[in-house]
Amino acid sequence: YLGPVGFIGLGNMGSNMAANLIKAGHTVLVHDAQPEKAEALVAAHPTARAAAALEDIARECGAIVTMLPNTAHVEMVHGRLLCAARRGALLIDSSTIAPAASAALAARAAAAGVDMVDAPVSGGVPAAAAGTLTFIVGGTQPAFERAVPLLNAMGSRALLCGSAGAGCVAKLCNNLALAISMVGIAEGMNLGVKLGVKPEVLAQVFNTSTARCWSSESYNPYPGVMDNVPASRGYTGGFTTNLMEKDLFLALAAARESHSSTPMGALAHQLYALMQTHGSGAKDFSAVMQLIAGDALP
Ligand code: NAD
Repeated sequence: YLGPVGFIGLGNMGSNMAANLIKAGHTVLVHDAQPEKAEALVAAHPTARAAAALEDIARECGAIVTMLPNTAHVEMVHGRLLCAARRGALLIDSSTIAPAASAALAARAAAAGVDMVDAPVSGGVPAAAAGTLTFIVGGTQPAFERAVPLLNAMGSRALLCGSAGAGCVAKLCNNLALAISMVGIAEGMNLGVKLGVKPEVLAQVFNTSTARCWSSESYNPYPGVMDNVPASRGYTGGFTTNLMEKDLFLALAAARESHSSTPMGALAHQLYALMQTHGSGAKDFSAVMQLIAGDALP
């Protein structure tokens, strides 16, 4: 890539991903709408520089990574980047956004002589910090191959799922299935405990039987069953209910546009939205256990 690597969006995920690019030896130019986040990153990693404006990144950088909350943020930022970007630049958007909007951005980029891949991630903040994210990528094969060295500096796997937007599709479908499995495990755990079986015994049964899944085995929602999961620290410090609700909203919108039926996803969306209504939006999404068990939970 010509010039430094640009990184825009230094939140829970992006700050860790940018740090791993720096540790891998890249010269990184960072930007966030909250300037103190860029200043904090530069203070911790003096080889990085903060850019005052998006246009500075567009002019200087041959490759630019964006890690922003939602579709509207990426549309605004990419719109401004494309006005000033170099021909032949590479845009990597790792935000989880609407697939059709992402594909439209890739088409606009191509018209400006810029390559773009959608590369949302799985793994959460711990994997972002450890550099073990999975990148779920959509785009052309040549654009994917250009992105791989940077993706490898931030993660341990990169899977090309199809053309532009396909990474967002696959990521949203993963989170749709995850949202549903978490509700299923919470429901089974609650019923079993109410009927007198100890939660750790139930978890052992699930994890050696056919209910076994990531929600039961690596992220059990029942408090005290596992160490180092949000359920055992008051549902703090994981993947927020607000972000899960956003992903389900995007998945269901894509389902409507394609006339696909997603009955369990629709129900799961209602449950996570209800958690937001009850003030649990900032809690980890496994707090759906609290919604289901109510006062029965320890
Ligand atoms: P976050 O809210 O912590 O960070 C977003 C950052 O973008 C903030 O620092 C914000 O100031 C910045 N920003 C917003 N608008 C901007 C603009 N116009 N210009 C520059 N900066 C701007 O969010 P996050 O948890 O880092 O998540 C980012 C994306 O990754 C989301 O799409 C989310 O769904 C996805 N994701 C998150 C996780 C997770 O566990 N947190 C896991 C997988 C995927």
